[in-house]
Parts: sequence; C-alpha cells; structure tokens
Amino acid sequence: MTGCVEPERAWELLVQADHDGELDAAEAAAVVRHVEICPHCAGLQRQFSALSNRLRAEVPMHGASEVLRRRMTARFAAPRRRMGVIAGFGAGAAIAAGLLLTLLPAGADPAEGLVAAHVRALQPGHLIDVPSSDKHTVKPWFDGRLDFAPPVPDLVAAGFTLVGGRLDVIGARPVAVLVYRRGGHDIDVFVWPGEASAPGGTLRGYNLLAWNDHGMAVRAVSDIEPAALRGFMLAWQAVPEDAGQR
Ligand SMILES: [Zn+2]
Repeated sequence: MTGCVEPERAWELLVQADHDGELDAAEAAAVVRHVEICPHCAGLQRQFSALSNRLRAEVPMHGASEVLRRRMTARFAAPRRRMGVIAGFGAGAAIAAGLLLTLLPAGADPAEGLVAAHVRALQPGHLIDVPSSDKHTVKPWFDGRLDFAPPVPDLVAAGFTLVGGRLDVIGARPVAVLVYRRGGHDIDVFVWPGEASAPGGTLRGYNLLAWNDHGMAVRAVSDIEPAALRGFMLAWQAVPEDAGQR
C-alpha cells in the first residue's frame, strides 16, 4: 500500500469523515482537491463507498453474533454527527486509522479491514462493553459472544490495570478487545485466532506492537510510549498459561 502524498495531514481520516457526511463545505472541497492529486486517498474514498454497501450485505453471512449484529446496525443507523475535523475524532477513530494502515493481516482483503475501521470510527468514544478490572468477570463475558476464548492476563503487578473488554470487528470477523490502563493511557489489545504477522510501529502518535500467544494473534495499540508498550508485551508474555492465570 503506497502512502498519502501529503502525510503531514491526516487525509485518511478526512476522507472517512467526508464519506460519513461529517465535513463542512470547505473541508469537503479540500478533500476533493486532495484526492485529485493523491491516488492513495482516492482509492480509500472508492473503497469506503463500495464497502458501506458490502458490509450490510455480508456481515450476516459471516455469522456475527446477534449482539454484534445489532450493534453494527445501530452504528450505521446512527444520526450523522457534525464533527470538527480532527479534533472531533476520538481515540477510536485514530486507532481505527492505525488498524487500517498497519494491522491488516498479511494477505487479508484490505477491504474488510476498511469495513472494520469504518465501523469503529463511528463510535463517539472509547467503548467498553464490560467495564471491570476483574479478569474473572471479563473473560467469561466473551463466552458465547466469540468462538474463541481470549487470554486475559492479570498485569497489575507490572503496573497495567485491566479496565474492561469489548467486541470489535476486524476483517468482518468479531474479535476480542481487552483494555488495560497505565498512568492515564489506555492500551487496546485486539485478540483473535491466527498469526500476528504485522510488525510494530508508530502511526499518528499511536504505538503498535503485535505478537503471538498460543494460536492467538495479539495486537496492542496505545498512545503510551514505545518502551512502556514493550514492557506491557513482555509482562503479558511472562504470565504463565497454566493454573488458570490467563
Ligand atoms: Zn492522500
């Protein structure tokens, strides 16, 4: 994927906001001018248009849980919000952009990642479905909502407090998201069966790390500093798998 020709501005987010009808006339005109010179963003714009329809058509066939399906329907039916350009975007949208560009599994259909990013970006805030610091509450919450059981390690001893969990969508499949916090920084941890093939990196101020955990792909996204995120990964990997600790 080649990048935006004007990376100093978050054009991907603007293109997305334009697609969602959230830009005023001047902002929308700026997007029009940009996509004329930027094949990358023009491609994104085409994909957003095509995929809005595709999501509605395909998600039920992927066997999304009833809970998830209801939520996605609700998000797409949500009234259009008038938002400031970038300031109006919450962490969800910024993280969505990170996922869009960096976390797509190798070989995956990028279109499906776009769908996931789009759905997530519609969230006004940083959603937590099950707010709890107790892994014995969070872990069972995923039972029946996913076809796999994500590890939920207790990382308090390493300075990372579990805040809760939620369901999300990556590549049109439901995934588990665990939210940990340290010093006012949230760490979103996306977990689903497979291989974490994407490397770590930094995108628009968000740091990303990916690793594997016993058949699960784990991808962490946060604005916490890279060293701390790496510490989080090491703490996660140090928790033994046995004795019900995960
Ligand atoms: Zn661009």
